[in-house]
Order: sequence, then structure tokens, then C-alpha cells
Amino acid sequence: DNMLNGNLKLALQKNGRLTEKSLNLLKSCDIDIEEYSARLIVTARNYNLDILLLRDDDIPEYVMDGVADIGIVGEDVLYEKKANVDVVRKLGYGKCKLSLAIPESQTLEDLSELNGKRIATSFPNILKSYLTQNNINATVVEISGSVEIAPSLGVADYICDLVSTGNTLKFNKLKKSFDIFSSQAVLIANKNIENDPDKKSQLDNLLVRIDSALTARKSKYLMMNAPKNSLEKIESIIPSLKSPTILPLADPEMVAVHAVIPTSKFWEIYKDLKEAGASGILLLPIENMIV
Ligand code: ATP
Ligand code: MG
Repeated sequence: DNMLNGNLKLALQKNGRLTEKSLNLLKSCDIDIEEYSARLIVTARNYNLDILLLRDDDIPEYVMDGVADIGIVGEDVLYEKKANVDVVRKLGYGKCKLSLAIPESQTLEDLSELNGKRIATSFPNILKSYLTQNNINATVVEISGSVEIAPSLGVADYICDLVSTGNTLKFNKLKKSFDIFSSQAVLIANKNIENDPDKKSQLDNLLVRIDSALTARKSKYLMMNAPKNSLEKIESIIPSLKSPTILPLADPEMVAVHAVIPTSKFWEIYKDLKEAGASGILLLPIENMIV
């Protein structure tokens, strides 16, 4: 009966690198998920959303077939599975790179040196399209796990795999040569949602919350006190979209300055702010932000 309640159905990775971050994103959307450990489907407590917990490999196809309306999956898996779905949002987490690695003792100066080589990977489709785009004629050896042992087994010359720390490569006497594909988590949707007004409006409502949560993550609320006579200087330092809010203080010579700034900018400007006379500088997280 769960499947017929009219709720939007979201496919999430059951247990893996994207699970916690995806649940956190829902939490920042004020969507409460009950304990899910052993179950395949859970319903949000305070939102019309059913969550299907699946192996990430299955998510693109389930969304394409409409078993789930939407899903969260890495671009690596999405493009490897070649599923015909809409990419609705890039989510900014789960970032990783698919890279080419070669034996430590070797060098690779030019792409053309890949011609005639055997490359082991669990992403044969992504690798093949990269090779085709670059006019390289190499043999793709498909392996489902532990790709990094392929060269020492003599099964392949090089590998193409997700590389995070490089420790696994080192252990197998390999080194990273260059990146082939950059991936992050994306929200995907079934193509037919566009033609289903009910599902479409459910998705649009969810997207308002997701966009607000994603925007809020990139921004912080900056507060400080400043002497009135340095206000112009301080305003010129603040990289705010809108002009900052200026509030009077008990001391008539001083004002409070509030602004929303990109999180990344704070560490570039706080010294300039202090030098310009700002004091009591506070940087606060923003939970939600509608722009
Ligand atoms: P499943 O059991 O669901 O099939 P899995 O073992 O195939 O899981 P994970 O290792 O959990 O998959 O990775 C899920 C996704 O996380 C990958 O497809 C990729 O998009 C992303 N990912 C991989 N490595 C990293 C990393 N080092 N940091 C962040 N994200 C990563
Ligand atoms: Mg998987």
C-alpha cells in the first residue's frame, strides 16, 4: 500500500558514501526520516515523501522505469548506467574523480601512448566514451571490484578507477596519471514527471526546500560593530549580494553591520575588516535562504 499513497518516491543509496549526506540534505529541508536500518521503504514523518533505500547501481534504472520518481546518485554511476533521466540539480557533495593510474615505474607523457594498451575499470562506458572522444584505440577490461590489482595480475597495463587518497594505488605500486571524469551527487528525475501535474508540483515544492538548503550552505550571516566614520570603507570590503543592513547602537558613534556573504570569502576579508575598525565580528550559519 506504501507504493500507492500518491507520495513522491525518492531513491537513496541504502548504505554507502552518499547515504548520510543525502539524509542530512533532507534534514536541512526540514524533512524527518524515521529510523530506517532494516527497511526498504520509509515514509517521511512530516512530508509526503517515500524513501526507497537501494544499492546505488540500481538507482538510475529505478528512476528511469518510474519505480521511484526521483533519486540521488553519483554522476559516475549515472553516466555509467546511461539511464535516460533528467538531471534536476547538482548537489555539491559526494565529489570524487575517476582517474587513470599507471605502474609507479612507468611514465605517460601523451594521451596517444594509451593506444594499444589494456585498461582495467569498473566504469567501462565512461572510459570507452573518453577514449572515443580522444581518438584512442585501447582495450577496456571490465572488472567489477579491486581494479587496482589488475596490472600486477597481468590482466591490464593501466587502470581507470575512483581515486580518493591514493593509498590504495600506492599499496599496489601504482600512481595517478590524470583525471578522466569528475563526479558529484545529483538529483535525478523520471522523464514523465514533466507530464504529471501532481508529481510535478510535489517535485517543485521539494526543490524550493532543496535550493534553499543548498544556497544556505554556501552563505553565512556576518555581523560586526563599526565606527560610523569607517562605514564606507567596511561596506566596500563586504562581498555581499545586497547592500548590508546598518543598525544604530547605543553609542552614537558606532553602528552594527549585518550582511549575507559567501562562506568562502570570510577568511579573505576578516583582516581587512578589523583593520578598517570593525569589532565583535560574528559569522553565523544560515539554515535556510529563499532567494
Ligand atoms: P552500493 O552498495 O550502494 O552499490 P558502492 O560501494 O557501489 O555502494 P560507494 O562506495 O558507497 O558505492 O560510493 C557511492 C558514490 O559515492 C560513488 O558512486 C561516487 O559517486 C561517490 N564517491 C566515491 N568515492 C568517493 C569519495 N572518496 N568521496 C566522496 N564521494 C565518493
Ligand atoms: Mg554500487
